[in-house]
Amino acid sequence: MPQQQYANSLVLKTPGTSVKASPSDVRRNNRSLIFGLLFPDSQYSRAELGRKTGLSRVAVSDVVSDMLDEGLIYENGYETKARGKGKRGTLLGVDPTRLRVITVDLSQNHLIEGAVTDLLGTPLQRNELALSATDHVDEHTICELIKKLMVGMENVIGISVAATGVVQDGIIRQSTVFGWHDFDLKTPIENRFGLPVIVANDVVCSMLAERFFGSAGPNMLFVKLDRGIGAATLINDTAIIGENHASGEIGHISMDPDGPKCPCGKRGCLEMLVSAPLLRQQMYGAPAEKQVKILQEAGQRVASALAMPIGLLDMDDICIYGPADIINTAFLSSAQDQLDRTTTSMFRKHATIRRCECGPNATMRGAAITMVRDFVDR
Ligand SMILES: [Zn+2]
Repeated sequence: MPQQQYANSLVLKTPGTSVKASPSDVRRNNRSLIFGLLFPDSQYSRAELGRKTGLSRVAVSDVVSDMLDEGLIYENGYETKARGKGKRGTLLGVDPTRLRVITVDLSQNHLIEGAVTDLLGTPLQRNELALSATDHVDEHTICELIKKLMVGMENVIGISVAATGVVQDGIIRQSTVFGWHDFDLKTPIENRFGLPVIVANDVVCSMLAERFFGSAGPNMLFVKLDRGIGAATLINDTAIIGENHASGEIGHISMDPDGPKCPCGKRGCLEMLVSAPLLRQQMYGAPAEKQVKILQEAGQRVASALAMPIGLLDMDDICIYGPADIINTAFLSSAQDQLDRTTTSMFRKHATIRRCECGPNATMRGAAITMVRDFVDR
């Protein structure tokens, strides 16, 4: 099966879906396989796609022709050198010019940001809504922002919302930021705009951006440290969701039973010990050496918390996404030292902790990728 053969390629699998052998499933698999090889910026001829996937010429042509019609891919020049005796093949690539995705990022401090992106998640047009601490945010607030982005927009394949907290099938189970509990955000947006809607966890979105536009491979532990702390895990290009859709919710794991009281009811949760607002508060007005020490201790604490999952999963690539004043050299080198002390051994090589390189758009780009993948798999 080509799917098995390409387990390590860019085809991200959707956990929980069984592979049935109906013709439409086979076709969907082939489509996903070919799009996955081209995404985000590879170019191959039909013949090369056939070689790489093991699919027949007819099967490749069939899928390619549909994707060309839909505007998912385009013909973009010719191979520089012909392989074998045939004529030079036409190169195919992901088409950034026709289809659009609407993305909304609900993970930022005092700000809801929306954008129209292309299929590569590049923001083409933006709109944002600044929030004060007392502003009430609900589905109407978000629909208004989307409405502004939709003006004059054609060929929109769907709306993708990145939200913090536990998200399951479009329902936000728990989001402390907006005080939502079992809040269905998907249905009202779907009803209002008549387009497919995805609500995804913001950390998973940022991780996907790092996978495709940063330097990560198919396996990584991704940590987002900002107003809280959350993680996401990619194993063999599958984002781990968990039994309760709460994989990566490490912020409320108690690290110190005698630590400060947390709104969740426990004491000494990781988030109560390490978060950007807390660290900034501690550093405020402190001498420079003290500030460095605070960040070194934070780095050490995060690395200690990650040591066990790193050992458990045998992960080498640890990527941290967060504001530059917190995730700096002092934080990272102290975290690296702690990881080396706790995880490296004669039979286990050094795991590397590094900063995410995808910049401030990572969450929105990842949300767009989530929608594109869903569209391809439909
Ligand atoms: Zn807690």
